[in-house]
Amino acid sequence: GKVAIVTGGARGQGEAEVRLFAAEGAKVVISDVLVDAGEALAAELGDAVTFTRHDVSSEEEWANAVSLAQERFGGLHVVVNNAGIAFTAPIVDHTVADFERITAVNQIGVFLGIRSAIDPMTKGGGGSIVNISSGAGLRATKYMIAYAASKYAVTGMTASAALELARYKIRVNSIHPGVIETPMLGINTQEMNAAMVKHTPMRRMGEPIEIARVALFLASDEASYMTGAHLAVDGGSVA
Ligand code: NAD
Repeated sequence: GKVAIVTGGARGQGEAEVRLFAAEGAKVVISDVLVDAGEALAAELGDAVTFTRHDVSSEEEWANAVSLAQERFGGLHVVVNNAGIAFTAPIVDHTVADFERITAVNQIGVFLGIRSAIDPMTKGGGGSIVNISSGAGLRATKYMIAYAASKYAVTGMTASAALELARYKIRVNSIHPGVIETPMLGINTQEMNAAMVKHTPMRRMGEPIEIARVALFLASDEASYMTGAHLAVDGGSVA
């Protein structure tokens, strides 16, 4: 019965969250820049799911996505700030433009998602914001300085927002995926992905549904006493 926005919901982990939330009875707005994939997923899942072309780094487009949730489904109770982009290169090969591009989506996008949720969630008596950070937001990662900065920022914003928004009954938590089998891994060579699996105690990649189940829990009232938590879902990597 809750209304959720899942950013980056057209594929990968976001798609798994959209499918699981809809199966559990939520109404879901899929936000993504991938129009064909987003529209196809919404069409497949029926009236409880709708798609909007939404770049999370845009203030105006956040306003549109929230209005859509309110007008189509009557409110907003859950935001999953999942949209993200990755970039791997040595520090000397990161340009300022690379750094700004990563920051705009991964950091400003999550900031705008948190800020946009406050008014509609407060009006509805509370809500849950789930931010998708990364293992790279909890411990060192080589060759990803801009990505690591943005994911540590998500960890920090989660804690800060949790403190500030508890009084409005808005819970804010972060999930820190390990190596998850999604199209994002395509930026790496097979050797790089194999090395990450080798350093994962469970010796395998995670599946998108394994992140989606944790997002569902955090979104639900079953996580009613959780806020400001940073959950590693990573086959033991951070440990
Ligand atoms: P993915 O590339 O399959 O999915 C990311 C989605 O975000 C895509 O649908 C993409 O179109 C969308 N997106 C990109 N820029 C956007 C923008 N400006 N506005 C709206 N949508 C946008 O990758 P994924 O693995 O599903 O990634 C989901 C999240 O998980 C990301 O935040 C990523 O950083 C994080 N993560 C992934 C892994 C992994 O191993 N796959 C590990 C740790 C964290």
